[in-house]
Amino acid sequence: MGKVILITGASSGIGKDTALNLIKEGHIVYGAARRISKMKDIVEAGGHSIKMDILSNEDIDRAVDQVISEQNRIDVLVNNAGYGLWGAVETISIDEAKRQFDVNIFGLAYLTKKVIPLMRNQKSGKIINMSSMGGKVYTPFGAWYHATKYALEGWSDCLRIELKDFGIDVILIEPGVIKTEFQDVMMDSTVERSIGTPYEKKLKALEKATQEMYARGIGSPPSTVTKLIIKAINSHNPKRRYVGGLFAKPMLFIKKWFGDKMYEKAIMSQIKKATKE
Ligand code: NDP
Repeated sequence: MGKVILITGASSGIGKDTALNLIKEGHIVYGAARRISKMKDIVEAGGHSIKMDILSNEDIDRAVDQVISEQNRIDVLVNNAGYGLWGAVETISIDEAKRQFDVNIFGLAYLTKKVIPLMRNQKSGKIINMSSMGGKVYTPFGAWYHATKYALEGWSDCLRIELKDFGIDVILIEPGVIKTEFQDVMMDSTVERSIGTPYEKKLKALEKATQEMYARGIGSPPSTVTKLIIKAINSHNPKRRYVGGLFAKPMLFIKKWFGDKMYEKAIMSQIKKATKE
């Protein structure tokens, strides 16, 4: 029988690809995001779309209530919605940083808290949290984004042991570089904010290198991550973490086995090469 699955960030990239493939697998899928018009294909494929801003508790309450009233259960929650705030710490306001945490952590947490009692009563459920290789490794000018994903890793690990006895699994997905809208959102205002600051030259070079990289088609397709999510959903004994996508395994390997010093050398030499400093 198909599982009832609620997935956030379903209007684009990883979330959309996952939603469409889960529908193909026979599951009852509810995609949630702000841009409802971008989820028409999910509805056409037989799924459901819900307008939800993860920053709005009312939207979250309404979304979960709708799924429960229509299906009476939620088997899987995929917490995927998120974005990357890039730039020098000095140039990013605390309000912008708080928003990054509100979307990537607190919105996700509010939704999860809303779903837990239901899964606890069902005595089963899977909470799949979209982290990143960036939840374990770091890159220049990504302080706030990495802070949210590092936080998500710790939060999810604690939640896993808290919910284990209730039959609920908490799973982390750690993708590498995936071709989605993420990169456009990430670079939005990054350079603008740096103009006239000591970071301007570096950030302009970084933006150019990022654009060139994506223009060359570098990055794994979202389906790479979809496959990991489907594996986690179908497994009776899922792993705590699933890793995949461009650079993820080698980056995590270098950091784990060679340490921070070697990792920083490796990442900075790559950045230098890419930005031709
Ligand atoms: P996209 O930008 O393509 O998709 C992001 C999704 O998040 C959209 O559906 C967007 O929907 C949703 N979203 C953003 N803000 C909000 C909000 N306030 N309320 C509700 N939904 C929101 O990026 P990806 O598919 O790449 O990103 C999905 C996840 O994967 C993110 O958590 C990201 O951190 C993670 N990730 C991505 C990687 C990559 O290289 N692409 C690598 C590692 C992790 P809408 O705008 O319609 O609300």
